Amino acid sequence: MNKTKVIASIGPASQDEATLKALMMNGIDAVRINMSHADFDFCDDIVRKVQTLNQTLKKNVAIMVDIPGPTVRIDRVKDGCVTFKAGTTVCIHMKEITGDHTKISVNYPGLASDVKCHSIIKIDDGKIILEVIDKEPEMLICNVIQGGLVRDHKSLNVPGVPLNIPFLRDYDRQIITYAHQNHLDFLALSFVRSSEDILEVNDLLIELGNDHLGIVAKIENEKAIEDIDQIIKASDAVMVARGDLGVEIPFERLPGLQKMILRKCHIAGVVSIVATEILSSMEDEMIPTRAEVSDLANAVLDGVDAVMLSGETTTGKYPVETTMMMERIIASSEEDINYYEFVETSMRTEKQDITGNIAYSVTDCANRLKCIAIVAPTVTGYTARKISRFRPSCPIIALCPDPETARSLALHFAVQPVHVKKLDQLDKMIHVAKECVKTYIERNEGHYILTGGYPFEGVKHTNFMKVEEL
Ligand code: PEP
Repeated sequence: MNKTKVIASIGPASQDEATLKALMMNGIDAVRINMSHADFDFCDDIVRKVQTLNQTLKKNVAIMVDIPGPTVRIDRVKDGCVTFKAGTTVCIHMKEITGDHTKISVNYPGLASDVKCHSIIKIDDGKIILEVIDKEPEMLICNVIQGGLVRDHKSLNVPGVPLNIPFLRDYDRQIITYAHQNHLDFLALSFVRSSEDILEVNDLLIELGNDHLGIVAKIENEKAIEDIDQIIKASDAVMVARGDLGVEIPFERLPGLQKMILRKCHIAGVVSIVATEILSSMEDEMIPTRAEVSDLANAVLDGVDAVMLSGETTTGKYPVETTMMMERIIASSEEDINYYEFVETSMRTEKQDITGNIAYSVTDCANRLKCIAIVAPTVTGYTARKISRFRPSCPIIALCPDPETARSLALHFAVQPVHVKKLDQLDKMIHVAKECVKTYIERNEGHYILTGGYPFEGVKHTNFMKVEEL
């Protein structure tokens, strides 16, 4: 059982029930629906399928939905796709038109006033590059520096230019309300600029009475990098969204920034996610490149909580094979993680509270005794999250009476959430722990640690650990 979690973005290549089932059987921990591309009908379909499969397969696969946030997208173009030729002139209109090879329009009418002459505009993750050569109140006139195919609704970036778009627009609010009403698990916020943006979403969640949705801040521009410490503090998870980040900043800075963000998340006890182009050659081929294998392995060795597939599972030819390859590379890379170093780093930066100290002792003991599992009955998920931060070398089986708590742990390193009936007696807990180790751990002998808070009523922290043998 792998400890590094896998998120699969869902699209035309993976939306049918058989593929979703195969992805879930092959170990994905969460699905992502990107509402920059999907609509509510698509979302409804996937949510129902995943919820049903969770029940039939006895899984706790979480559902993440992305809000587009302050993203600029191009409107519809003729026949869905047009070609821009290098050296030609293209006009960007602020009023909606159907685009062709000489003109497009965008979904943000303030673009013409925010952007200056000579600004560089990038379309579709930087594949197409334009330079603004002149402007009018309702139009930008651009020279095509690098041409290519332009498809409907592709994103448009203006690196280094702050755009005055409100963080939440009507569509974002509708998605958040939908996520709340449908008991989804994670809300990924695209183009977060500062912790203020996250607080705005939190206010809306409080208004809706939602205390379950986990907030994932997608780091995709320089502004977010500048406020990274506060963003980490305000989030449940932080995603290094390398696609857009590599357009907004010079992409040679990506590896250093990725390592910096993973380290800061680990110290803060916040989930880290690395996304985009993880195994992108597998969109067309059955095997990844050596460079992709190394990239994925390095993220695992750096202690990332979760990695995310995008094009590989949305439109790629081999969504299931890619997931299997991902699990294979992760399994091998996890053998090389320096678990002792993670325990020590975590302890140096851990609050000196009782749960933190028990979590440290449990992990240290599990690593030294080469335990096959840690079992943590948990009502809120706190015990499992705390132990996860210490990066144990064995899985943490989190016994959760609440299915929402179980799914909230889907992205945490090493945590295998299991939905169980309420545990109200110590004997019952010991029995259920043993049964779960037998069910979920492939090895049939060895030590495991049971840890939790006792007595069940009134205790506010984790206060015991018990070493058991299978
Ligand atoms: C990214 O830009 O890397 C990313 C994950 O965002 P999206 O898939 O929404 O473009």
